[in-house]
Amino acid sequence: MNGINCRWQRKKSIDNENENENENENENENPSNCSNTNPSIEIQCENGKTIFAEHVICTLPLGVLKEKANDIFEPPLPNYKLEAIDRLLFGTVDKIFLEYDRPFLNPGVSEVMLLWDDRGLSEEEKEDISKTWFRKIYSFTKISETLLLGWISGKAAEYMEKLSGAEVTDICTSILRKFLNDPFVPAPKNCLRTSWHSQPYTRGSYTAMAVGASQLDIHSLAEPIIQEDDPSKIVIAFAGEHTHSSFYSTVHGAYLTGRTAAQALLESRKNEKNSFSLSCEDTSDLSSWIQGISLN
Ligand SMILES: Cc1cc2nc3c(=O)[nH]c(=O)nc-3n(C[C@H](O)[C@H](O)[C@H](O)COP(=O)(O)OP(=O)(O)OC[C@H]3O[C@@H](n4cnc5c(N)ncnc54)[C@H](O)[C@@H]3O)c2cc1C
Repeated sequence: MNGINCRWQRKKSIDNENENENENENENENPSNCSNTNPSIEIQCENGKTIFAEHVICTLPLGVLKEKANDIFEPPLPNYKLEAIDRLLFGTVDKIFLEYDRPFLNPGVSEVMLLWDDRGLSEEEKEDISKTWFRKIYSFTKISETLLLGWISGKAAEYMEKLSGAEVTDICTSILRKFLNDPFVPAPKNCLRTSWHSQPYTRGSYTAMAVGASQLDIHSLAEPIIQEDDPSKIVIAFAGEHTHSSFYSTVHGAYLTGRTAAQALLESRKNEKNSFSLSCEDTSDLSSWIQGISLN
């Protein structure tokens, strides 16, 4: 099984095929070089290795949590977290790159926007994603004279990920011929697509607020699991774009929540002899700058 299996107070675990082979050479090891005398978490990796730790910062994407959160933590995550994971949306946005042998768009054209008229579709056709998915490609952007980028999102993107490259290439070519009213638009020599929904370590692109969800759910996701007999001790901290109440869906949201989680762990151990500090002038400046971005 791909994922993290977390056991705390007793054990805990992470699995990741992408794990750097050079890291954690030993079968069982303690990754911390600080005064780690009581690792209460056991992390079991997909490659068979086990890591013991006193704290974990869990940055599993929301898409992976949606798929696995019920199975990989022991004891299970509290219900309020599982419900928040269910309520929030992890949407898909994919890119389709089309590479051509020769330019064919007028040099003055930077993007071909697609506007479809659905009025001619029967109710049956509207319900059948196999007949309509390509209508969700909202534009082809010119990256260079011989490279176009198509954008697609939502269920249509998920459907596109299951098609063959040849099917996507054919559809894109017929769309361009139709919208440019030019039957001589060439077929691309290459078609490359992202597949964020199909990828086991993402299961989508980024978090969105679903109908019925709210920022309270994001707060619930960000809430750490604390040690029962000592609430000042954080066992699992949570970070990642899905845990920032304003900047969810962004890289800077992921960055800031990672810093906050690390800071909270360090704070909880600040009275120890070998305590660490996160302070670094450059990144402090960056963090304050990002925090100061206005959302209005
Ligand atoms: C097409 C697209 C366009 C985007 N455009 C922008 C943009 O313009 N601006 C912007 O700010 N953001 C953008 N984003 C969003 C941004 O990329 C993400 O919000 C951000 O990268 C999330 O970072 P993260 O650390 O939360 O998650 P990730 O970067 O996904 O990190 C999660 C980590 O967990 C690991 N992992 C997953 N499952 C497991 C498992 N089972 N066991 C162990 N490890 C696991 C993964 O391998 C990965 O290393 C875009 C995203 C997409 C897909």
